[in-house]
Amino acid sequence: MKITVIGGGFSGLAAAALLSNQGNEVTILEKNRHVGGRADYHTAHGFSFDLGPTWYLMGQVIDDLFRELGENRENYYDLVRLDPMFRVITPQGYRDVKAGFEDSLNTFEKMSPGSSEDVTKLLVESRRAYEIMSSKLQDDGNQSESIQLRNWAYNQLKKFNLLRSYHGFLKQSLKSQEIKDLLETIPMQLGLNPVLLPAFHIFWLASLFDDGLWYPVGGFKKVVESLEKLALSQGVDILCSENVSKININKGKIKGVTTKEETFFADSVVSAMDYAFTETKLVPYIYRTYPKTYWKSAAYSSSAIIMNFGVQGNLGDSLAVHNVFIDENWHDFCLKLKSKKSTDNIQFFATLSSLADKSLAPEGCSCLRVVLPFPTGMKMDINRLSELRQAVIEKIERHVGKRLDIVYEQIKPPGYYKSRFNAYNSSAFGLAHTTSQNVVMRPPNKSLKVSGLYYVGQDTKPGVSIPFVITSARTVADEIKKSSNHARRR
Ligand SMILES: Cc1cc2nc3c(=O)[nH]c(=O)nc-3n(C[C@H](O)[C@H](O)[C@H](O)COP(=O)(O)OP(=O)(O)OC[C@H]3O[C@@H](n4cnc5c(N)ncnc54)[C@H](O)[C@@H]3O)c2cc1C
Repeated sequence: MKITVIGGGFSGLAAAALLSNQGNEVTILEKNRHVGGRADYHTAHGFSFDLGPTWYLMGQVIDDLFRELGENRENYYDLVRLDPMFRVITPQGYRDVKAGFEDSLNTFEKMSPGSSEDVTKLLVESRRAYEIMSSKLQDDGNQSESIQLRNWAYNQLKKFNLLRSYHGFLKQSLKSQEIKDLLETIPMQLGLNPVLLPAFHIFWLASLFDDGLWYPVGGFKKVVESLEKLALSQGVDILCSENVSKININKGKIKGVTTKEETFFADSVVSAMDYAFTETKLVPYIYRTYPKTYWKSAAYSSSAIIMNFGVQGNLGDSLAVHNVFIDENWHDFCLKLKSKKSTDNIQFFATLSSLADKSLAPEGCSCLRVVLPFPTGMKMDINRLSELRQAVIEKIERHVGKRLDIVYEQIKPPGYYKSRFNAYNSSAFGLAHTTSQNVVMRPPNKSLKVSGLYYVGQDTKPGVSIPFVITSARTVADEIKKSSNHARRR
């Protein structure tokens, strides 16, 4: 079978590799000059910056992908375990969240004496949520099972009171405001706003403490290159600088896709790009699963400003690899992001990747990447961008106690997500996770109107993050295999 995958992010690469391994003839069409999608990267003057993900979580999902394709991830790249996993920096000082739970309990005790019991209880809840997540919520695309699963999941979440907001859940479970804020920064790192997010996402806590937080040697660029190599080894054809402008459909059946230059015939098409863009711009009106109003009223996660700084000198004595700069206005910041209101309230994530891997910066220098979550749909002129840059630098300098000697810098405004990835609303993290858009409630992996059209990636089930989008690729590869076996039997 001939299959075209639109988009070469993590989901597209994984889906293409799995489908090619099944014996299909698979081509990826990627609009940009290199694959990787949101796991974009930038190299200049000896610095290598990750522009997207930096938290390597649930590593077994990627290891399983390599194994399933007859390869071993360890032959492609190494991982270093981070300890501390991250540092929370406030105007009053900093707290480290250590890799070991016992060590972290000491931190929590210092923040609020007597809090160990509450946090330990939370880890138990988190493990339960993680179990529901891992064992049951990996929808296999079958409609009737999907309904059963949805009911099962809903009942489980209700039973354990995990359908209210993540913020509300922590507020009820913890007395200490400081610990609550700290734990809210975990999903926010993945663009998951705690005031929108269902409490169920507390499972990230178990993922961090039980599986660990890792960093790939060579940065996420190395992971992207490895997945590309893996896909090529399975026989996938990867064509970059190919911008798909139309999905061709005849009498409800997929026929292929068209780019500016060419038409590609295909028996199946897998959209591994923005769901809303595919539906509203590439699929003809009568074949759309959702009306335009669905996307207009859907909740989207925030956009972001990315700042890459190449700094002379070593910052490792005052920063960890992952640092979260927050203050007492954290909750207000989350609310403003949700309500898409402009704010001077600056809270951000700073990654010193060269501390995990020296090769990412020239000798004697540091590679510092900042992600500043920002409401979608906000106007951003150069003066505002420069004010925000200054505010970020001042906060970092105040903490490190010296001026940053910046020898290289690059700033990506919020519009980067729209222009580079065709992201709806220029959202960095895609469709938000809310109770009605969470895991099994997200748009389906299979078109309801077009035979042979599938969806993978962060906007579909199960959602945002590298392990999730790889899971969506597996779901679709299994579904395509099942339907081609079925067609062969007939
Ligand atoms: C700043 C940031 C930090 C993050 N941090 C983490 C983290 O630490 N850990 C984690 O697990 N996750 C993190 N995430 C989330 C994670 O990166 C994403 O969920 C995941 O990479 C999305 O992969 P995808 O394949 O669904 O989509 P994408 O990566 O967006 O891939 C879609 C691809 O489709 C291409 N495309 C679009 N339109 C067309 C077209 N018309 N024709 C052809 N190609 C097209 C795009 O160029 C792109 O390459 C982060 C995301 C961001 C933005």
